[in-house]
Amino acid sequence: MPLEIVTVPCLKDNYAYLLHHAATGETALVDAPEAAPIQAALEMRGWRLNDILITHHHGDHIDGVAALRDGVRVIGAAADAYRLPPLDLAVRPGDEVTVCSRAVEVIDVPGHTVGHVAFHIPTSAAAFTADSLMAMGCGRLFEGTAAQMWASLSRLAALPPETLICSGHEYTAANARFALTIEPENPALHARITSINASRKAGLPTVPSYLSLELQTNPFLRASLPSVKAAMGMPDAADHAVFGEIRARKDKF
Ligand code: ZN
Ligand code: FE
Repeated sequence: MPLEIVTVPCLKDNYAYLLHHAATGETALVDAPEAAPIQAALEMRGWRLNDILITHHHGDHIDGVAALRDGVRVIGAAADAYRLPPLDLAVRPGDEVTVCSRAVEVIDVPGHTVGHVAFHIPTSAAAFTADSLMAMGCGRLFEGTAAQMWASLSRLAALPPETLICSGHEYTAANARFALTIEPENPALHARITSINASRKAGLPTVPSYLSLELQTNPFLRASLPSVKAAMGMPDAADHAVFGEIRARKDKF
């Protein structure tokens, strides 16, 4: 049985995710931008946290950990332990940990930060990608190189297409406007923009999204396509170089 996944809006435009195993009652949290909305979401459902999974060290993903960690196991990347809240379980890329009685794979996704990890739960067909792969976007390259982020996105792109991509921010509308400048003729992109505009109008989150849809509409995932390379004026460039140029354009968009 897949875990129940609850999207919790936090701060201005962040998302945390609650995972819940109905049969065992176990509950986990991915990222803790701030404690109050997460506590409210837990109380409303009568859930108690067992684990907190941290994707990366930025304040908008960890500032709520201290207020939520009483009796809770805190899990994060060993490589970044020096700048994360104290970890009860330090994990490495390729590790598999058990959370909510489910296997969770730790995937290395450097780029936004060098220690950024994603968490993949195959039995729930879900991946928690925070500021690596986002809905129609990807995180800014604060620490890593374009080649690193391209490799990270490629690892995520290789997951089953039905995987739910649970990312860290509501940046989708702005990402969509940018995506249109790269692929103005992409019909899947136009269809998706119609649907996200409706979601935003209704005050609903536009995440999570399916990997299959990201593969059709996310320009950062599409840097290796001949049509995208041609549109960028880089028909013969390496995939990571085209990705890097798309990222650089987005930074100035
Ligand atoms: Zn971040
Ligand atoms: Fe963030």
